[in-house]
Amino acid sequence: MNANLYALFQAHFPSDMTACCIETHDGLYYSWNDIDRASAKMANLLAGLGLPEDARIAAQVEKSPEALILYLATLRAGYVYLPLNTAYRAAEVAYFIENAEPSVVICSPQNFGWVSQIAFSSHAKHVFTLGDDRTGSLLTRAALQSNSFETIERNPDDLAAILYTSGTTGRSKGAMLTHDNLASNALVLHEYWRWQPGDVLLHALPLFHVHGLFVASHGALLNGSKMIFLPRFGTAEVLRSLPRATVFMGVPTYYVRLLAAPAFDRALCANMRLFISGSAPLLTDTFNSFAERTGHTILERYGMSETTMLVSNPYDGDRIGGTVGLPLPGVSIRVVNGDSMACAMDEIGDIQVKGSNVFKGYWRMPEKTAEEFTPDGYFKTGDVGRFDARGYLSIVGRSKDLIISGGYNVYPKEIESFVDEMDEVVESAVIGLPHPEFGEAVIAVVVTKTDTALDEHDVIAYLKSRIANFKVPKRVFFVHDLPRNTMGKVQKNVLRDQFKGHP
Ligand code: ATP
Ligand code: MG
Repeated sequence: MNANLYALFQAHFPSDMTACCIETHDGLYYSWNDIDRASAKMANLLAGLGLPEDARIAAQVEKSPEALILYLATLRAGYVYLPLNTAYRAAEVAYFIENAEPSVVICSPQNFGWVSQIAFSSHAKHVFTLGDDRTGSLLTRAALQSNSFETIERNPDDLAAILYTSGTTGRSKGAMLTHDNLASNALVLHEYWRWQPGDVLLHALPLFHVHGLFVASHGALLNGSKMIFLPRFGTAEVLRSLPRATVFMGVPTYYVRLLAAPAFDRALCANMRLFISGSAPLLTDTFNSFAERTGHTILERYGMSETTMLVSNPYDGDRIGGTVGLPLPGVSIRVVNGDSMACAMDEIGDIQVKGSNVFKGYWRMPEKTAEEFTPDGYFKTGDVGRFDARGYLSIVGRSKDLIISGGYNVYPKEIESFVDEMDEVVESAVIGLPHPEFGEAVIAVVVTKTDTALDEHDVIAYLKSRIANFKVPKRVFFVHDLPRNTMGKVQKNVLRDQFKGHP
């Protein structure tokens, strides 16, 4: 059997291939036939370039149906897809291209000058352009190709994609994902989230990250479901499309923005079946306000570039705010102290994972890969968490963000949740900064509501009455917004830089 992920999608195509697969915000319809034929044309183009068998196809393109088709064409032709965040500029793109040595690079027409310079001075033999308005040399060249293509045979262990991590804790690493990694996870999620006939996915996420490219698109592709494609998240556009959708996936920031819109209400969500959140922690406050406003309980799940999805709140059982739920079927998760000492219930430790979803390793980083796996084959996620009595996992933070102050472990999330409880506070981030006496000092960076006079002393006094002294921040700083990357993740390294020298 062909283990190519595209062959799996083909096996699940709807019986009516003229049905809509993608509808764009500006009213275009792409049928399943259109997707299949357009990806065949691009696959023929790629296959005709005489590329090495393990060629990487790097794409830094704006979101569009053609960008998804390019991903599918790369799978079909048996090459390795390498999506790049559209926010990356020359120095960043140069790092990825030099690191991954793609044979083909596809970029936005307006970036052709600088991207082609970087690509050709590395190993690339071909640079094509693809605009978000059906322009560019990729489509012009693909138009000349045949619209049928026999999906190339792939083994389960062959690479399908290299996904660079978001770079939240340091330099991005290329996670090598196989056809089987992606296929197994897609099938599990399809079942676990009860995709059903008639589902319509409102797709507002970017296509360069695990969440939008894999979790969202794969679900709809396996289900033969229509996707309403938004070029990016915009509150007005989402509100307009929600009444025609049944499934929505987003990062927590999307939910915060929806709740800020007075027009967002129960009636708009009447047709909705499922709201899913991930990529960053969803505040309990957001979870609760969302349920109150819409009657829907957001389903939070947890995953990462290296493993795709690991843990999810259940579809039928209780979805518990502040937790990411239960290990997915076939995924084994443990919380440990040191390398492999299992933690007791409610005890905080490092989260490790094993399963067919776990990646093959970091691209050209054999030592780093070896370091991140335990002798018994578990991947160290770098996240810290705890299981409760019901087996639900809560993420406490990242091991790199753990603060050790005066010899005591301080988990930023715990302090953040106390700070966030204060009426005047919107959100907060707790970081550790070097301190001559304590090793590290706990620092809180706080965003307050407008019209509040809350000051440093108020926050410290509030915390002193609630948590042990060693956890109470030595200093509290106020900012308008927390720095976030495109996936809505708070960039604590930026805060550590901004406030260094202050404690
Ligand atoms: P890098 O590895 O380069 O530092 P990154 O870890 O942010 O960046 P991704 O692979 O995009 O890159 O993100 C995975 C991480 O996102 C997880 O390890 C976890 O820390 C966080 N995450 C994902 N889902 C959730 C969630 N539901 N709650 C809390 N954190 C989450
Ligand atoms: Mg990571």
